[in-house]
Amino acid sequence: MSYDLIVIGTGPGGYVCAIRAAQLGLKTAVVEKNPTFGGTCLNIGCIPSKALLHASELFEEAAHAFPKMGIGVGTPKLDLGAMMKFKDEGVAGNVNGVAFLLKKNKIDTFQGTGKVLGAGKVEVKGADGKTQTLETKSIVIATGSDVTRLKGVDIDEKRIISSTGALTLDKVPGKLLVVGAGVIGLELGSVWRRLGAQVQVVEFLDRILPGMDSEVARQFQRILEKQGMTFKLGAKVASVDTSGKRLKAQVEPAAGGAAETVEADVVLVAIGRVPYTENLGLKEAGVALDTRGRVNVDPHFATSVPGIYAIGDVIAGPMLAHKAEDEGVAVAEILAGQAGHVNYDVIPSVIYTYPEVASVGKTEDELKQAGIAYNAGKFPFTANGRAKVNMQTEGFVKILADAKTDRVLGVHIVGPDAGNMIAEAAVAMEFGGAAEDIARTCHAHPTLTEAIKEAALAVAKRAIHM
Ligand SMILES: Cc1cc2nc3c(=O)[nH]c(=O)nc-3n(C[C@H](O)[C@H](O)[C@H](O)COP(=O)(O)OP(=O)(O)OC[C@H]3O[C@@H](n4cnc5c(N)ncnc54)[C@H](O)[C@@H]3O)c2cc1C
Repeated sequence: MSYDLIVIGTGPGGYVCAIRAAQLGLKTAVVEKNPTFGGTCLNIGCIPSKALLHASELFEEAAHAFPKMGIGVGTPKLDLGAMMKFKDEGVAGNVNGVAFLLKKNKIDTFQGTGKVLGAGKVEVKGADGKTQTLETKSIVIATGSDVTRLKGVDIDEKRIISSTGALTLDKVPGKLLVVGAGVIGLELGSVWRRLGAQVQVVEFLDRILPGMDSEVARQFQRILEKQGMTFKLGAKVASVDTSGKRLKAQVEPAAGGAAETVEADVVLVAIGRVPYTENLGLKEAGVALDTRGRVNVDPHFATSVPGIYAIGDVIAGPMLAHKAEDEGVAVAEILAGQAGHVNYDVIPSVIYTYPEVASVGKTEDELKQAGIAYNAGKFPFTANGRAKVNMQTEGFVKILADAKTDRVLGVHIVGPDAGNMIAEAAVAMEFGGAAEDIARTCHAHPTLTEAIKEAALAVAKRAIHM
């Protein structure tokens, strides 16, 4: 069997790469070790977590917001089994959609573990242990990432869980201890808090959401605390005793010192993800990794071995589905002789809690550190008509623009629907737009997006509704 391109892994990086390559006329195959396509994102990541975030948000809204709007539904009852079924159906719809798209684009699919035997050769080992060797002009490694383990804490996916276990709990824990105040910990912590768990988050650093704009992180932490989540910052979980009915976690100050015991029913380990390169044969094939175990690539996604490329979570950069997708498109276009490119300065990032947090471009901290002069325009949702009438006034929009050119350098939103709204900022930045461009663009009234326009006006100190 001979191909122009074989993609190993069918997450958002791999399947999108395969489709784009097929569109461009390359004879393409994918190799996937899971029974379903779609990778982490569709099976155990973005899609199931967002299904549970959506359902649990409505559950909470039904209890607290509905009565204020005159909707009497009584105290909502949780049917966790039905909620999980709703989530599973959402996942099934999405993974089946990928299978359909691969077929529609005439992409050959191989179920099994792919191994690189060197440039031009991929071995596929099926579940029955049988192997076959495929030949190809190019290989794209898109094997994604796996959960980062915590030393001394063994994940059993029942009481000590990773994000994967947090998507399938069969009962609401009385107390959930979340290790790690990153995106995944805060999203899944929010789900279980809304469904009734007491949630405490332990974070090694002295702040939540490392890498995000620190003003955004501070305000977001206050909002989550108001919702009932508690935080222990500058602390680490050193071990978890599983011998009793309740788990006993030893929590130590990050800087060292006496440990305290924190009891919990379930511990969620959410301290990050690591690139997944197991059983891929990369070392034998001569594909170089960096010090953090990621596949080393040049700006054209080429690895150290000619003809072998890599994209997505398995290479450097933000571990995000849309970043993987864009790299998939870019490498397919490069292989077809076009000029594929990813603009890493404009990759939005979203936390799908309530309220949502979304950002694109530079943070204020980064601009200060780089010594770049900027003007900041801020507008709170308390002054936005639509947010007020919807009773969703927490948060703000912040626009950072170059002090000399007014070019938008970063946009940060804490607020309702921030994840959808950030797209406007990304488009403006992709076109090299200025704050003035956003400010002079007519925004429909009454919409939450008017807060973006007002923040852009505030860059020049001329917001109208403030
Ligand atoms: C709980 C959770 C929530 C998330 N939410 C979001 C979100 O809301 N938005 C967002 O942008 N990102 C989110 N992410 C991150 C997102 O899932 C990843 O960034 C994205 O899936 C990376 O895509 P990828 O194609 O690089 O790899 P993956 O999606 O990890 O796919 C890799 C695929 O390769 C397969 N594979 C691995 N090795 C082999 C092999 N040797 N042979 C054959 N197949 C192999 C795997 O089975 C897998 O199917 C979330 C992640 C988690 C865990």
